[in-house]
Amino acid sequence: MPLALSPSLFRAATSSFFSKSLFLFSPHYNSYYARRRLSTNPLLSLRHFAKHPSSKPFRRTMPSSPSSRSTQTLTPQSPNPDPSAPPSTIRAKRKAWRESPEGLLRRDLDMCSKRGDLPEALRLYDAAVSTSVNLSLHHYNVLLYLCSSSEDGSGVERGFEIFRKMTSDAVEPNEATFTSAARLASLKRDPALAFDLIKQMSAAGISPKLRSYGPALFGFCDAGDFNNAHEVESHMAASGVVPEEPELAALLRVNAGKGRGDDVYRVLHRMRGIVRQVSDSTAEVVEGWFGSEAAAEVGMEEWDVGRVKEGVVKGGGGWHGQGWLGKGQWSVGRSEMEEDGTCRRCGEKLVCIDIDPLETKDFAKSLSALACQREVKADFLVFQEWLDRNGPFDAVIDAANVGLYNQRNFSFSQLNSVVNGMRQMSQSKKLPLIILHSGRVKGGPAKTPDNRKLIESWRKSGALYATPPGSNDDWYWLYAAVNCRSLLVTNDEMRDHLFQLLGTSFFPRWKEKHQVRLTFSKKGPTFHMPPPYSIVIQESEGGSWHIPTILGDDIETPRKWICATRNTTLELSQSSRRLSQMSW
Ligand SMILES: [Zn+2]
Repeated sequence: MPLALSPSLFRAATSSFFSKSLFLFSPHYNSYYARRRLSTNPLLSLRHFAKHPSSKPFRRTMPSSPSSRSTQTLTPQSPNPDPSAPPSTIRAKRKAWRESPEGLLRRDLDMCSKRGDLPEALRLYDAAVSTSVNLSLHHYNVLLYLCSSSEDGSGVERGFEIFRKMTSDAVEPNEATFTSAARLASLKRDPALAFDLIKQMSAAGISPKLRSYGPALFGFCDAGDFNNAHEVESHMAASGVVPEEPELAALLRVNAGKGRGDDVYRVLHRMRGIVRQVSDSTAEVVEGWFGSEAAAEVGMEEWDVGRVKEGVVKGGGGWHGQGWLGKGQWSVGRSEMEEDGTCRRCGEKLVCIDIDPLETKDFAKSLSALACQREVKADFLVFQEWLDRNGPFDAVIDAANVGLYNQRNFSFSQLNSVVNGMRQMSQSKKLPLIILHSGRVKGGPAKTPDNRKLIESWRKSGALYATPPGSNDDWYWLYAAVNCRSLLVTNDEMRDHLFQLLGTSFFPRWKEKHQVRLTFSKKGPTFHMPPPYSIVIQESEGGSWHIPTILGDDIETPRKWICATRNTTLELSQSSRRLSQMSW
């Protein structure tokens, strides 16, 4: 019978759970637990332990998914009998397991998970309990996930009940279990409980993921509890979990709402380092802060200019980190930048933050390693040798993208116009590197006499590299551009899966400084060169802030920035200009 537990009772239940989970990890318990599981779980063969005496049978299974924001990944792990057994035995064992009550329950629960069918999952659970089916971690995780995903909160009580059953069955939880439990707590609007669960989890040696912290962090922020929100933030830092925009925006909102200027400043700087360009909803929080009375209060009338300059040098440019400068009401609004990075609203000029050459070198190395994993390694090595012999180049062209842009069929003449344009612009007047898949070099439009001549001339000049059949040419042009520190001509926004593998700390910065985008008119291509300033939150030496939004992140529309300044001389100059216009 489901018991409605009050949060405090539940906390008591989970703390006893906690002591149990500590017990779980003691060697004494492991052997007991191993025996118990062995006697009931057909997946584990005694032979496995005999062969691997040192293996820890109940080592926590860490979820392998690297993505932290993805919805719960509860991918079933297929039962894995002894790999040295004959295949027929393995097949027979797997089949027997699939047809066992546990196997059938797993299949049915997985179906419920796919459909998001909580009522059916609960029915299956009740039936399994009444017939004493052994529930494994996976069964429990699917059930808890479904309960914690019930947006109307209908799964909360049952979720807690199932969690307690899991505890009493001594089934060892993992990250997904704790994260679901924390979500259950958040459905009860109990961020303190959600946070407790995360603390228990890490005390038990299970690393929380970013998603594990959401229920506690957002819960505290929504409640305006900045102290506890800060505690969660510190816990994340101690666990090496880096927040993303939603977490930072929540921290910004709670601190701005409470007028905590120092924390707003600190979080804005974290945002600068991690997020760089903000979404519209974050932009509203930022604008709200600068328009607030508390923001008018923070800062100082006079400051040490030398220290600010020193801060700028230390930080690599674009910020100083010395706190709010100036005093009084901020003037805040949306703005756009001139081509040279001058703000149209306040006249402040944005700076260009250089990339450390060492970082580029490291990135090229890891890119090469990744490409060798994903591509045929021998092919990629051949390309690297070719590049060493024929490079470096001033520019690399993603020829498939350029030749197909706004075209139904691949256009060699369009590609040629871009090749020539880039050559004219380059100092060395050397042809850019043209990367094109071998299929396009041989077939289709490549067969016409003119195009064949063109291709041959590129090849003779050592400017064309045809990537081998079956390859993904993205790896080739990207590696070439990074390795040569050259410009990269493509309208590909580089947001798909391959580029997501590259992370967000270096690649976006590299792309901003190296990508040349194109538009075409009857007159030919127009080259949109990388901006001479950095598209990142910038704090000026005079204390103004410029925050880029993600709006206008394409070649057609200029990007929108938030401009926040207390530069009174600027306002004076504007008003005096207005006055002189009036008198004139
Ligand atoms: Zn401005």
